[in-house]
Amino acid sequence: MKKLSSSDADLHIAGEALKAGLLVAFPTETVYGLGGDGFNRYSLARIFEAKKRPRFDPLIIHIAEMDALDRVVHRDALPFSLREKTSVLSETLWPGPLTLVLPKRPEVPDLATSGLNTVAVRFPSHPVAQKVIAYSTCAVAAPSANPFGYLSPTRAEHIEELLGDEIDFIVDAGSTDIGIESTVLDLTQEPVRLLRPGGMPRERIEELIGKIEDLGNIREAPTGAPQAPGMLSSHYAPKTPLVLLTRDEMLRRVVSGKDAGPCVYLFFDGKTREESDVITDTVDRAIFTLSERGDCVEAAANLFDLLHRIDRLSKGVIYAQRAPERGLGTAINDRLSRASVRGTVQRGCI
Ligand code: AMP
Ligand code: MG
Repeated sequence: MKKLSSSDADLHIAGEALKAGLLVAFPTETVYGLGGDGFNRYSLARIFEAKKRPRFDPLIIHIAEMDALDRVVHRDALPFSLREKTSVLSETLWPGPLTLVLPKRPEVPDLATSGLNTVAVRFPSHPVAQKVIAYSTCAVAAPSANPFGYLSPTRAEHIEELLGDEIDFIVDAGSTDIGIESTVLDLTQEPVRLLRPGGMPRERIEELIGKIEDLGNIREAPTGAPQAPGMLSSHYAPKTPLVLLTRDEMLRRVVSGKDAGPCVYLFFDGKTREESDVITDTVDRAIFTLSERGDCVEAAANLFDLLHRIDRLSKGVIYAQRAPERGLGTAINDRLSRASVRGTVQRGCI
């Protein structure tokens, strides 16, 4: 693996590498992606191998100009109302952290879409991502650059540590802004469905196209059975078991002081931390806060980096406080819920 900077010369190297079928990790405004040519079966197969990603979990294709959408998507296959919604969303919210699932063109390899007749597409706003894609002249398949099921990378170091041997280049442009994956929206049927909450708040989407439907509460899903492709109940998980608590449960948990062993408290905000009894780190307890001032955007940006750091401490358990259920808070809670699935057994000890 070779590291590249965000200089124009290096981004040209990244673009050429993608054209040649190699794998390039690069930053987007959400998280770092692991890019390969979306029309090259060899590159697509290598992405699945590198991530140990199951073949039933389809990839998002990234574009860097509006005209590229119709190379990937068959818009005419949509009824008029959905075609209109697609135009409104893509023209208003792209480039940005929104992925649209649309009917696919037959030229898009089945490997990219896990054999579905739909394809997920996104136009990222990060200037480095845009240049890498533009210089590659490809439509770039780019899932998050992490081993399947583990925390997404928000810094180049996260990728080096976990996937460094599997990929050809990493473009290092520092921390990503949003820090949480894109919102995924299914536009192939009415009502439009939110498949994954993410960096584009649901409220913003509903302002433009009206009410959208939820995929459902993932915690009610039968274990192991995805409700939509790739929507596994356990995902984005640190190695350390995580128990997700409401604000009140978190305060009770801390105040009861029953912790037997080493643990981490991950507070959503500084106010809750101050209301609790934990003042400082001890040998057994580490304390982290997602956003001192309780801001969901700041908390989302910190989420994966903090979880990477917490995982390196190898404590017995992470107690994490839920975010408020609005804006990016919904996406934060979705990631924490999926991270907590293995820890549900532990809910008994709240
Ligand atoms: P990732 O790029 O790893 O953040 O995840 C991409 C996610 O997008 C997948 O796990 C799916 O949940 C979703 N996705 C991609 N393609 C499709 C599709 N054709 N239909 C429904 N969901 C999709
Ligand atoms: Mg992912």
